[in-house]
Amino acid sequence: MPGLGDSHTHLTWNNGGLDQLGSLGLEEHTLLTARSAKCFLDSGYTMCFGAASAKKRLDIVVRDAINAGHIPGPRYLANGQEIARAGGELVEGITVFANGPQEMREVIRGHAQLGVDQVKLSMSGESITEIRDAEDCYFTPEETAACVQEAHRHKKRVCSHARARDSIQQSVDYGVDVIYHASFVDEKGMDALEKNRSRVVIAPAINWIVATLYDAGTFGYSTEKAEQVGYKRELDAADRAMREMHQRGIVVLPGGNYGFAWTPHGTYARDLAHFVDRFGFTPHESIIAATYGMAKLFMRSHEMGQIKDGNLADCLVVNGNPLQDISILQQHDRLDIIMINGRVHKVSSKEAAFCPAWAGGLMESDTLHRNTSVPVVS
Ligand SMILES: [Zn+2]
Repeated sequence: MPGLGDSHTHLTWNNGGLDQLGSLGLEEHTLLTARSAKCFLDSGYTMCFGAASAKKRLDIVVRDAINAGHIPGPRYLANGQEIARAGGELVEGITVFANGPQEMREVIRGHAQLGVDQVKLSMSGESITEIRDAEDCYFTPEETAACVQEAHRHKKRVCSHARARDSIQQSVDYGVDVIYHASFVDEKGMDALEKNRSRVVIAPAINWIVATLYDAGTFGYSTEKAEQVGYKRELDAADRAMREMHQRGIVVLPGGNYGFAWTPHGTYARDLAHFVDRFGFTPHESIIAATYGMAKLFMRSHEMGQIKDGNLADCLVVNGNPLQDISILQQHDRLDIIMINGRVHKVSSKEAAFCPAWAGGLMESDTLHRNTSVPVVS
């Protein structure tokens, strides 16, 4: 099958308390980011779409190192630091602030000069903060319009953290390209999304909500607490909304928000199971979304996202049939071969015995990356 894709990637997240991201040293943070990139490839992911970088150039330098063949990682589209109005950060120390259309345009110009592929607007709140509600929108229509206009002027796409109804409406009205979360969409917003379904993409990043409700207890964040701040209400709303979007033919892509303590790196393929269990996708539809759908998000569906003559060789050999059991994609030991750009990144001992050329030292991705003459070009 084709390599998988993630539509909401945070390579810079640390599998721990995100409040430490701001104070983490640049050098340590760079290594951590490179390690996350390798983890995505180890997990069968060959396409990742950055959803905000904790420091301004981390996504960019890691993308460039992957493309140069210096470090292993997926094909990557880099984001900058997320943009919020003053005081509107969701995680301490990783946000850049701007108030009003003019300041926002300046920040986006700066991001474009650094070399990001897309920018991220932090438009709505997030329940875990307890002070900035998921149903409140903090951007004015003028600000959203200015951000999109400026980013598009520099040929950069725009993503929005948009849980609240008004943030979703503004995103679709003013031309945001990728809307993250979109839980509290209303009928008017849903109609607008359907009308614009050829250009707008929804990425719910649903595992964050599921895990915050049900997996965070061992980290001291109980299900009762998560329900009390609003995550159960949001999960119900998001499940309803994504089911309806799928029925209406609106593009909904898997991926998202891995790298937090209870959404650790390496568990990315949980998203594909959620699409089946929660949103009414068939396993086939879920896989198509994570492969061909992601290739479309990369604007490279002519050469990626399918096993096809002439396409780039980004592919997996899976021990088992994910169409029968989508959860096997979560088991790294079932990913017998992982190949990107025609290079073997991983081969199981069973497959290596079958093809001796891949055995021994060639299993080391380092060796493969040094030997390659065809870098991944984004
Ligand atoms: Zn995120």
